[in-house]
Formats: sequence, C-alpha cells, structure tokens
Amino acid sequence: MMSKDTILGFGAMRLPLTDEDDPTTIDENKVKEMIDYYMDKGFNYFDTSYAYHNGASETILRELLVKRYPRESFKIADKMPTWLLSSADDNQKFVDEMLERLGVDYFDVFLIHNINQTFYPLAKKVKTFQYIEEMKKEGIAHKIGISFHDRAELLEEILEKYGDILDVVQLQLNYLDWNSTLTESRKCYELCEKYDIEVVVMEPIKGGILVNLPEQLNEKFIQYNTTPAQMALNFAGTPQNISVVLSGMNSIEDLKENSEVFTQFSPISSEDEKFLEDIARKYQQLIAVPCSYCGYCLKECPKQIPISDYFEYYNNYSIHPVSSIAALYIQETAVKPAASECIECGKCLSICTQKINIPEKLKEVVDCFEKQKIKSNLK
Ligand code: SF4
Ligand code: SF4
Repeated sequence: MMSKDTILGFGAMRLPLTDEDDPTTIDENKVKEMIDYYMDKGFNYFDTSYAYHNGASETILRELLVKRYPRESFKIADKMPTWLLSSADDNQKFVDEMLERLGVDYFDVFLIHNINQTFYPLAKKVKTFQYIEEMKKEGIAHKIGISFHDRAELLEEILEKYGDILDVVQLQLNYLDWNSTLTESRKCYELCEKYDIEVVVMEPIKGGILVNLPEQLNEKFIQYNTTPAQMALNFAGTPQNISVVLSGMNSIEDLKENSEVFTQFSPISSEDEKFLEDIARKYQQLIAVPCSYCGYCLKECPKQIPISDYFEYYNNYSIHPVSSIAALYIQETAVKPAASECIECGKCLSICTQKINIPEKLKEVVDCFEKQKIKSNLK
C-alpha cells in the first residue's frame, strides 16, 4: 500500500464560471491563475472530456495551457463521448474534433468515457476499443483506457477481453465508496491491480461530500489533528497502482489546499485506515435510509426499479445536497425505471434484510429528486 509517485491531477470538469447557469462561461482569469499555480507546483496532468462544460473545457485548455506551455511539459487526458457514438465512423469524427479543440496532435491519455452496462455494448458495437488501440499504434494516444462507472463484475468482463490493450482505468475511489456495494471501489481497484493496470482516481472527495462533513464528524478530524481533505486525498492516493488523483478544480483556494497535500504526499497508515473506517461507519449512520445495498429487493420488483442505487443517491444527497448527486439519479432514470414507477405491490418488503418500508422510502426519493427542478451541468 505504498505509493511514491502519486500526483494531483487537474480535473477540468467543474471549472469556475462567470454565469452559473451557463456551463460554457468559464472564468478565464481564474482558470489561468489556477493553471499557472498548478504548473508552478510541479504537477502536469490535466483531465478533460468532449462533454465537460459542453466542449468549453477543451477549448479553455487550448488557450490557457497548450498555447502557453511547451507541449512536453504537461499531459492531457481526454475522453470519447461514448453515448454519442452511432457508427464506427464517429470514432474518427470525434477524435478529430477533440484534437482541434485542444490544439494538440496527440493525447497523453485517451479514455472511452463513462463505460457502464449501458455504454459498454455501444462502444463494442462501434469498435471503439479497436479504434483506440490503433490510435496508440499511430502515436495519437500514448496511453489508452476507460473511465469506468459500474460494478466490479462488468469491469472484470472488460479486463478479461481488453486488459492486454488497456493501460489506464479511471475509477471512482474514496473512503466512503471503498466498500460500497454500489460503486465497489475496492473490488474494482483490486481487479486493476490483478491486470497490472494503472489507476487514475476520480471523485476522491465524492463531489465535495468528504470535505463538507456534518459538524460532529468534522470535530473528529480536528481531534485527529488533520483535515478531511488531507485524509480523503491521502486515502485515494495510497494504493500502489494509483498514479494520479484528480480533483475538480473549482477555485484557487481548493487547488492550494489540495496541492499542499500532494507536495508532501504521505500514504495513509493502518491507524488512519481504521480512523476512516470509523468515520465512514458513522457517516452511514447519519443517512436517511438504513439500506445495506444488498440488492435482494431488485430481484422481487416487477418494475425492476434499481432500489438500492436510488437509496444510495438519496442518502448521499440527504447528507449533502449537491447537484452532482441529483444528476446521478437523473442520469440513471434516463435508462432505468424511476422511483415514481413503484406500484406499491409490496413484493419487496419481505425480502429486505433491513426491514425497510421500501415503497414509502421511494416516495421520499421521488419528493427529493423528481418533484423539484434540479439544475446540473454535468454529463
Ligand atoms: S413495492 Fe414498488 S419497489 Fe417494491 S416490488 Fe413493488 S413496485 Fe417494486
Ligand atoms: S433489500 Fe433492503 S437493504 Fe437490501 S438493497 Fe433492498 S432496500 Fe436495501
């Protein structure tokens, strides 16, 4: 569990805006200051995608990074918009557009974005894995991989098939999700180790949840003589195969705090691990539905509502109501039945290991996510 080379990555997904209602209005002055500070600290990894800020993330990096720094002094990871692919020709079309938006002639890392149960079959159908393998052979991408958003079972299937061509997997990994049955961070990470694949961490502070803790938990970090950000980032950077921990750069203050951690990065100890396990357990006790995410109820549900996923979103949102969590619910209901589709048949009640009144709690989920308009610029 030692990692000597873990660095902080500059996540260009939640950049500061001049108009909060328009994700393309990136605040150039603030981002310029942040890029300069980040580079000056000796870091060099920028993470963007075709989708971030509706394309403006790539173009702002062209203007403020690519045009102002020597190409060999920084690395750029970019991501194919998998959900927009409709034919094999689209692979080339999007890559050409992304190279142009960034103003570069190669990517240091190129990932197939948002691989999950829905988009994996699509990427296979339009031969995106074979396409990125060719990109690497031609030098258009120095490393290739996927950003992954599903359970370990699917990741294993993918690594069995493509593990020999993939260099990198980008994973959601933090101490709250480490043992989660929804995210399965630990299992996913261990699979990457097994296949000797480099891991880039996303969501190390879980969209801000792990740095904006309830007061009683915050107090425990003060007593432990550390900060929530430091511990969360140290946790995310510790496992051996992790090379980069991304942080969504929203302000120069966050960047300074995060870079401080990685300037003097120290892997967590077993004592720290126990401390964080305890925090995670207590955090879970503060949540709205005592679901253990076992998934048994799904097997009984005639509507196939992904109940445990929705309870996890609801719990996370109850503790910390940020739009990125609401966006996860909205994204999932685009491809799966929503909580409001519950017909109150009660078939799930007897199987629930936690004796939860599932239909009643699903009504709370509906109230939380469906009966209010939640704005999100995340894709
Ligand atoms: S009560 Fe609702 S959630 Fe439970 S099995 Fe019936 S439809 Fe599914
Ligand atoms: S059966 Fe109960 S504890 Fe298990 S996932 Fe469903 S609601 Fe959660």
